Amino acid sequence: YQPNSPEARDIAYHLHGYTNARRHDEVGPLVIDHGEGIHVVDIHGNRYIEAMAGLWSVALGFSEKRLVDAATKQLSKLPFYHSFTHKSHGTIIDLAEKLVTIAPVPMSKVFFTNSGSEANDTAMKLIWYRSNALGQPQKKKIISRLRGYHGVTIASASLTGLPNNHRSFDLPIAGVLHTGSPHYWKEHRPDESEEDFATRLASELDQLIQAEGPDTIAAFIGEPVMGAGGVVVPPRTYWQKVQAVLKKYDILLIADEVICGFGRTGKMFGSETYGIEPDMMTLSKQLSSSYLPISALMINDRVFQPIADESNKIGTLGHGFTAGGHPVPAAVALETIKIIEERGLVAHAAEVGARLQTGLRRLTDHPLVGEVRGVGLIAAIELVADAAKRSALDPVGKLGTLVNGILQKNGVISRNMGDALAFCPPLIITAAEVDDLLARIARSLDEARAEIGA
Ligand code: PLP
Repeated sequence: YQPNSPEARDIAYHLHGYTNARRHDEVGPLVIDHGEGIHVVDIHGNRYIEAMAGLWSVALGFSEKRLVDAATKQLSKLPFYHSFTHKSHGTIIDLAEKLVTIAPVPMSKVFFTNSGSEANDTAMKLIWYRSNALGQPQKKKIISRLRGYHGVTIASASLTGLPNNHRSFDLPIAGVLHTGSPHYWKEHRPDESEEDFATRLASELDQLIQAEGPDTIAAFIGEPVMGAGGVVVPPRTYWQKVQAVLKKYDILLIADEVICGFGRTGKMFGSETYGIEPDMMTLSKQLSSSYLPISALMINDRVFQPIADESNKIGTLGHGFTAGGHPVPAAVALETIKIIEERGLVAHAAEVGARLQTGLRRLTDHPLVGEVRGVGLIAAIELVADAAKRSALDPVGKLGTLVNGILQKNGVISRNMGDALAFCPPLIITAAEVDDLLARIARSLDEARAEIGA
């Protein structure tokens, strides 16, 4: 890179997350200049379909003027206010009411935070607080799943079930347990049907609860569809079976809707797509189309009442973030939801999502494709060096990195999680843009095949 170029200065000064600091100058930073609809343009004028919607999050694309106007209007009127010590403001009241109104199951209250990690962290703290308020201090353990992703704070990284987020951080913390993930393609036993696989996972969950002591388990957390763990779409009856086990032991259910919320799976919430009836929901990302940081934790009466009850001697809830409930991202969130509703973007996501899913499944015959999975506008291609044996190119992740690089050269930003390539475009993507994306993916797979001589 030229001395003083943006790339050289990025390497010199900017420490990136989820980036190999040693290899950063070798792979090279991709410096984005601006966005237009579903596209972003780098500082050299190269245009890309942002097929990950940033980080599964820019629902309305990169140039929605109404969101800019909503932020500007709020900045001029009240640039900051908070929610501590009974303070409030109109925008956050409107947003709390709106979220309760559109929730897929009856919800009672909304607590505002700034990131998905903070929302999940807050869920964990509220659960601990509630158990103490109920006089059940031993009921604090939380079960999450291998391959689940819930964030990176110490508590939410502990809930996350990916080695990369635990290794070298001395995580998970005590009291967080992990059960199996519903990744049928990778984890089913020979001759095990999807239905039997779901039954086995529910039974393993039951055994874990029994082994730990049911009265020590407070909650279970899961994403309706796992995102960062590889876009893991559960077997049809999985959630029903898991919920039956949780009910049996009076264990709360937290739906992490950080990716699935606001239309991603073709319904407003992933919980609707899978018949999940959560006690708590965490929301972020598409909530504000990621134009500004905001997240939320919704709780039902079962969670709220013990906290509010006269017999709760703990009193003040000693928790809250300075910027939690910030009026400017809240105004952007309200406008985002309004646009999603006005333009029918949930139904649109179901419609163009079906086109994306069908188109990707046509690639199943490609020699580098082991499996295509997804629902609505979230999907993954599992890349394999040998489809019959379902084996990866050595080392694992090499093929994912290769195809991801070729896609970038062909004007598509995707993301490889090992050898799974994820696609999660903005909800506003049109049918013609889906076709353009599919053509670029097919071409990139062929180029990768030629490159490795498969
Ligand atoms: N939960 C899920 C399902 C996520 O995908 C993410 C982020 O990707 C998080 C939580 C954490 O959100 P944040 O990165 O805003 O802390």
